[in-house]
Amino acid sequence: MASEGISTGIVHSDRRFGVEHGGVHKPIHTSTQYGFDRVEDLIGVFQGTLKGGYNYARQGTPTTAALESQITRLEQGVGTVCFGTGMAAISAVFLTLLRAGDHLVASRFVFGNTNSIFGTLRALGITITTVDATDAAAVAAAVQPNTRMVFVETIANPGTQVADMPAIGQLCAERGLLFVVDNTITSPALFRPRNVGAGLVVQSLTKTIAGHGQALGGAVTDTGLYDWQAYPNIFDAYRKGDTKQWGLSQVRKKGLRDMGGNLSSEHAHQISLGAETLALRVAHCSATALTLARYLQAHEAVVAVHYPMLESHPQHALARSLFSAGSWLLSFELKDTAACLQFIDRLRLPIKATGLGDTRTLIIPVAPTIFWEAGAEVRASMGIADGLIRLSVGLEDSADLLTDFEQALG
Ligand SMILES: *Cc1c(COP(=O)(O)O)cnc(C)c1O
Repeated sequence: MASEGISTGIVHSDRRFGVEHGGVHKPIHTSTQYGFDRVEDLIGVFQGTLKGGYNYARQGTPTTAALESQITRLEQGVGTVCFGTGMAAISAVFLTLLRAGDHLVASRFVFGNTNSIFGTLRALGITITTVDATDAAAVAAAVQPNTRMVFVETIANPGTQVADMPAIGQLCAERGLLFVVDNTITSPALFRPRNVGAGLVVQSLTKTIAGHGQALGGAVTDTGLYDWQAYPNIFDAYRKGDTKQWGLSQVRKKGLRDMGGNLSSEHAHQISLGAETLALRVAHCSATALTLARYLQAHEAVVAVHYPMLESHPQHALARSLFSAGSWLLSFELKDTAACLQFIDRLRLPIKATGLGDTRTLIIPVAPTIFWEAGAEVRASMGIADGLIRLSVGLEDSADLLTDFEQALG
């Protein structure tokens, strides 16, 4: 199973649960309630003794379960819980697995809303140290006796910094810390956090996995590497059965059943459809992004290009060793910061919009939009220049994008 190719795994994963009426594709299950012939089975679902049973859609449906099995196979994990958005998945990990008095070490280079939720966690009595995660020594230096978790992104949005995940994974294994990796930008098509010792993988399914910009979703996958018996914050109710499932049981029960962060069947279905072409899209968009990055780097109007597969990127060697390609995310700065907005307006193909991983190329000036609320100090600490422009490369033909950039820069 682990040896099959990525696309083979994706397109056949939902049939392993059994096929309904011979349907080649999984249907959308719209029921909120699930009924049983025997009341014992209803009881069995509540008590966890009837495997694969459903009771109320807030905790999952056969359609979300099919997507979960797809993600589990992609990440080579032991289970996945899907959520209504990537942020619901990330906040569920923090809120269901951390408690007041705990300490979290997090990369300083994280998605803006993840950075914002750190403020919420601090208000709840969880202390957080943010560090430059491209340097594993900085992570090691931040660890305290009450540290429970280390959180990083693979390729950080928007600066494209690459966390030193092999060294951080080793550190976490030595110290018994839960290593959580946000794999949104890379996706399992380019990188499996399990290979660097991550215990949990979180991702926004909205971006690379769905890839069409028409459904929100998130996922938490357990890689099976972390020993939950050593984790003090598992409630007694979930310290039962297979120890590998303890963490995810708590994330599902607290994050879905109690907090209600569930993904709808309709959106799970749309995400599954997108996921089938994951490997093809990621290869195409990464190739286009590299072409554009090289073009921009050579252009005299451009002062900096941030893309891990450029030789000039500070973590280029690490990125080459970890990722099979550089993803669709790149950012750059013009020499003339004041000209940046007019340049964006001159582009005809990229759509001026927030969001990432769409079929269409999206462009946004970072400081006055997605990192506006964070303020100048946070932007400076994350290396976000006032003129930084983020590009999410879509499925357009790269020659057309190049022509458009040429006319806009010219
Ligand atoms: C977009 C994004 C998220 C949040 O995902 P949503 O589905 O938009 O909630 C989390 N992490 C990263 C790296 C992202 O780019």
